[in-house]
Amino acid sequence: MSEQSGKVAPVTEPGRLRTLDDVECAFCDLIHTGDAKWVTQEEHAVAFLPLAHGTLAPGHTLVVPRAHSDGILDTGDVAFAAVMGLVRRVSRSLVEGLGAEGVVILNASGPASGRSVDHLHLHVVPCWHDDEATFWPSDRSTHVLLDTEPVHDKIATAYQRLYSRASWTRSNHVAAKT
Ligand SMILES: [Zn+2]
Repeated sequence: MSEQSGKVAPVTEPGRLRTLDDVECAFCDLIHTGDAKWVTQEEHAVAFLPLAHGTLAPGHTLVVPRAHSDGILDTGDVAFAAVMGLVRRVSRSLVEGLGAEGVVILNASGPASGRSVDHLHLHVVPCWHDDEATFWPSDRSTHVLLDTEPVHDKIATAYQRLYSRASWTRSNHVAAKT
């Protein structure tokens, strides 16, 4: 699903950007000015409502780290853990406060993802049985991987190259199954 497809509209209005610590970012600006409908403002992450035209459902909430990062690919462990913890607490609050019967979590990271704001943000969208909406993407990528090596092996190899614990996890997983 692409945020440019119109399914997830931009949450900020044009012209609100300003420079803050050499980063021109709508969410950094918002966090700095305090100009938002806040659900909560915590040490490492905050939650607030998007603008009305970007709202997918009543109670649709955005969760973002206070510190600027472009997306999920460059966010540090502390900020990411704070964001995910807050996503869960906001989700439970949507159930408790609005009677939501489920949530969909949306994020787009990286230049090809269709992200609307270059500051990590997760959409927490409440769902009800009678909302007549499906937020699970129906599009399928037409990108073709030219290499014939099995895709899961390519990912596993990259994972092991990036993270030393991968070999420990994999060998333990295999040992547990035997
Ligand atoms: Zn930012």
